[in-house]
Amino acid sequence: MSDAHDLPARSRGVIALIEENCTSCMLCARECPSWCITIDSHSEPVPADPPGGRPRTRHVLDRFAIDFSLCMYCSICIEVCPFDALHWSPEYAYAELDLRDLTHERDRLRDWMWTVPEPPELDDHGEPAKEIAAAERSAALAARTKPSAGG
Ligand code: SF4
Ligand code: SF4
Repeated sequence: MSDAHDLPARSRGVIALIEENCTSCMLCARECPSWCITIDSHSEPVPADPPGGRPRTRHVLDRFAIDFSLCMYCSICIEVCPFDALHWSPEYAYAELDLRDLTHERDRLRDWMWTVPEPPELDDHGEPAKEIAAAERSAALAARTKPSAGG
């Protein structure tokens, strides 16, 4: 392990993958300006639920690889992923003598997750999430319009 923890926690060192979150939607691969993300997947039928309903399919990941010899560390893949499957780790010490070894396959990308720092605490003075703000507005409105106990 490198001394990456001396760097700011949000440094762009290497990209980590949470495989379970990935739906093989291909957004990251399509948006990557370096074309350095390779994804292979296949479709599997999902039993109808309830029985008799419309049959569905889901994508199953076969390969996920990032070629760090091409990556420009722009973070676009991480920003566009709708399912939080990709994260920055501050680890940077993964130089190789053979360029081909800079392609990290899914197992190695997953291992980097152990080095991803916890997200920062929420800012107490920040705006609440829009869902929370909407729920608070509804509750306040309901409290104002509720008839009093005495009529
Ligand atoms: S950081 Fe940028 S260049 Fe690197 S894999 Fe993601 S989108 Fe591609
Ligand atoms: S954008 Fe996210 S969910 Fe979609 S393929 Fe990439 S990592 Fe997987």
